[in-house]
Amino acid sequence: MTAIPAGQDVTGTRQLAAWRERVMPPVEQLAGDLWSIPVPIPRNPLRYVSSYAFASGGGLVLLDTGWAAEESWQALVAGLGSIGASVEDVRGVLVSHMHLDHAGLAGRVREASGAWVAMHPADRALLASADLGDPERAVALELAFLRSLGASAEEAAASVGSPAAYRLFTSITLPDRELSDGDLADVPGWRLRAVHTPGHTPGHLCFVDEAAQRLFAGDHILPRITPNISVHPVEGARPLANYLESLAKVRDLDVDEIMPAHEWRFRGLAQRADDIAAHHERRLGELLAAVADHPGATSWDLAGHLTWSRSWDQYSGRMRISAVTETAAHVIELVRRGLVSSSGGDVPTYRVAARAVG
Ligand SMILES: [Zn+2]
Repeated sequence: MTAIPAGQDVTGTRQLAAWRERVMPPVEQLAGDLWSIPVPIPRNPLRYVSSYAFASGGGLVLLDTGWAAEESWQALVAGLGSIGASVEDVRGVLVSHMHLDHAGLAGRVREASGAWVAMHPADRALLASADLGDPERAVALELAFLRSLGASAEEAAASVGSPAAYRLFTSITLPDRELSDGDLADVPGWRLRAVHTPGHTPGHLCFVDEAAQRLFAGDHILPRITPNISVHPVEGARPLANYLESLAKVRDLDVDEIMPAHEWRFRGLAQRADDIAAHHERRLGELLAAVADHPGATSWDLAGHLTWSRSWDQYSGRMRISAVTETAAHVIELVRRGLVSSSGGDVPTYRVAARAVG
C-alpha cells in the first residue's frame, strides 16, 4: 500500500485508488465548470500531471498541460474530448511553473488553438536566458556548475549527458502574458488569484479559487512527496529559504481543498505545510551532523553522506544531480542561518561554524 501521511483527508479518492493500482486515474468532473485531466509523464515515477480545465466564456482555460511527448498530447486531446471539448476550445493556458511536465505542451496547445500562455516573470526569465536556450551552452554551464559543487570532471560528465538530451528542455515555449503575485488570472467567471511561491522554481505560482476556497497548488504542496528544492546554475541563491517562506505564505490561506499537480487532491493545508517544513528541518539537522563528521567536504561529497531512499551508488545521471543540488540548497541554508561556514572560492567546502560549536 502507498503510505499516505497519517490522518490525511484525501478527497481525490479515485486518484489514490488508481495510484495504488498503478493505473492512470480517470478524467474527473470536480464541479459544474471544472475538470481534472491526468496527462501521463512517460517513464517518470510521478506518472502524471493533473491538467485542470476551467469552463470560461464558452471556452476553456487550462492550468498546466503536461510533458512534451506525443503520448502526453494524445492523452490531453482525448481528455478534452471526453468532456465534450477540443483543443481548439482552449482560450488560455496558466502555467504553474516552467518545468517540462507542466509547460511542455503549452506551445502546442497555443499553436492548435491560438490560446494565450501565462506564467510568472521569474520563470519566463529563466526560459528566456540565453544560457538555457541553447543545448550546447546549457550542458557547458551545468558541467561547470557541478564542478563548482565538488564533482570531478569525470563525475560531472557522467552525470550531465549529451546536449541532445537537453533539446526537450530548451523547447519550452515563452509565455505571451505574465502573472505576478496577487494578480487575478484572466479567466472570466472565475476569481483565480495568483500567489507567487518561489522555491521549487523562482517563478512558481499557486492559484487560489476565491469563490470555492480551492488552492491550485502546482508542485508547491503535494500530498505525499516533497518538491525538489535545488540550487541551479542560473537562478537565485537561497531556494530553500524562499521555499520555506512560500510554505508559510500559503499555510493559513482560507481554502478547503488542495488541488495539486501530482498525486491526489486532499484537505488539511496547514498540517501538510507543517509536515513539509518539518521534513526540511530534519534534513538540515542530518546535514549539519554530516558537515560535523566531514569537515572540509563539498556539496557533492556531503550528498553521499546523507540517507536517501536507496543506496547512494544507485544514484546516477539526473538523479545524482538532483540529490547534489538539493543538498547544496540545504547547506546554503545552514550557512545563511550561521550554523555552517563556507570556504568560498570556486569550489566551496563547509565546516561547522565556530559559534555553532560553542
Ligand atoms: Zn511537476
